[in-house]
Amino acid sequence: MTGISTRRAELAATLGAVRERLSHAARAAGRAPEEVTLVVVTKFFPSSDLRALVELGVTDLGESREQELAAKAADLRVSGLPMPRLHFVGQLQTNKARSVAEGADLVHSVDRVKLVTALSKAAAEHGRVLDVLLQVSLGDQPQAGRGGVSPSEVSALAEAVAGQRHLRLRGVMGVPPLGGDPAPAFALLAASAREVREIVPEAREISAGMSDDLELAVAAGATLVRVGRAILGSRPTIR
Ligand SMILES: *Cc1c(COP(=O)(O)O)cnc(C)c1O
Repeated sequence: MTGISTRRAELAATLGAVRERLSHAARAAGRAPEEVTLVVVTKFFPSSDLRALVELGVTDLGESREQELAAKAADLRVSGLPMPRLHFVGQLQTNKARSVAEGADLVHSVDRVKLVTALSKAAAEHGRVLDVLLQVSLGDQPQAGRGGVSPSEVSALAEAVAGQRHLRLRGVMGVPPLGGDPAPAFALLAASAREVREIVPEAREISAGMSDDLELAVAAGATLVRVGRAILGSRPTIR
């Protein structure tokens, strides 16, 4: 086999295994497997992997850096493949809002009013309505480099998004603290999700769970699971 077809076979196998884990976890939680969407997080991996994943039926891809998202979106657009939904899952600076508002279908990491304003303005300039999630901080300490609004400020931030015509609030996202037990963190996120739905009833998405803890996240109500390593392998070192 050539390198490309070996890689494709590898991705088919790991993707199948993760899909199995997800449907098993959903059934174990008394949920329908279709309630949980797999977002494959492809950061640091080449566009050839993204194309192979789309060919294997993946509908949702995630990236965490604005430039990488823009470059890979452009590659996918010329590939002739059906366009997947593109998720932006990384920390976002306001000066990158324009690019992300153009390239992403769902931004998972809205955690402050300044970013709400910047994304809304950028979405308006692109003549679109942008779907967003509020990223909630799930640790006791502010999570260095990870972002997230504190749970006590989630409602106020939801009101800020609800007031923007060019943004549509779809739910919440969270990353459990490193090294901690993810279960209480996912419970906290579910509580924030309920608060958000009191303000915007259609905001039903809960983005939670990664390679190591997706079962716990599905048990806690996750509707979007963000998986990288379990499908793509360990990431190349950060360039
Ligand atoms: C990289 C990343 C993931 C994927 O994590 P894995 O451990 O590789 O599954 C999920 N969410 C965010 C926000 C990420 O940056």
